[in-house]
Amino acid sequence: MSNEVDAKTARERAKQIAEQRRAERRNRKRKCVVCGVEESDKTPLGPHPDGIGPSCKDEVSCQQRRAATGR
Ligand SMILES: [Zn+2]
Repeated sequence: MSNEVDAKTARERAKQIAEQRRAERRNRKRKCVVCGVEESDKTPLGPHPDGIGPSCKDEVSCQQRRAATGR
């Protein structure tokens, strides 16, 4: 009997964890690997030409932001 309860609890817990991870993935914002800005409607990110990660589609403002942050 107790095994059934344990199995049910484990299933429930696994479901909760899966939902949590899904929510985290939704909330996690990608950041530009060049200037570090978060992805948003104003700053859409695309794949970096060198394949190092997401970077701003707008390269000019990306370079400006990078210069502004001094990195
Ligand atoms: Zn950028």
